Amino acid sequence: MRCRYCRNHAGLFRSSCPSCIRVVEIFERSVGRAGWTELVDRFAAAGLTKPQVDCVLDAEIGGEPSLRDRMTAEMANVLLRNLGMPGRQSPADVRKIRRGANEASSEGTWISSGDACPSEGAPQEQDHGEDTARTA
Ligand SMILES: [Zn+2]
Repeated sequence: MRCRYCRNHAGLFRSSCPSCIRVVEIFERSVGRAGWTELVDRFAAAGLTKPQVDCVLDAEIGGEPSLRDRMTAEMANVLLRNLGMPGRQSPADVRKIRRGANEASSEGTWISSGDACPSEGAPQEQDHGEDTARTA
């Protein structure tokens, strides 16, 4: 199977490759508890590269908001609750805002770029036939 995040070879019965699974694990452990800076540190400490992490955080699987949206929503809600307001921002809200203002990405220290997925070794299968020029 191919990894649902980075499209690299994931293994026979796996839907995600080991490095993407690690990104998700660290994310799940940290969401709501750590800020972006801490999270970035944790990814780096686990030996994950920025493209690997970006790839997972920006993946919108099955039309769901990305992990990055979840993280942003989580942090906004914590902030609102600290101000005594009912923090009820959902990841979908965040995504809506993000799509409306994709120029200014002020969150985090990393700039998200859509096609930053790493392709280590595994042959990349292009589903959409836009890219015909292959430099092998
Ligand atoms: Zn992967």
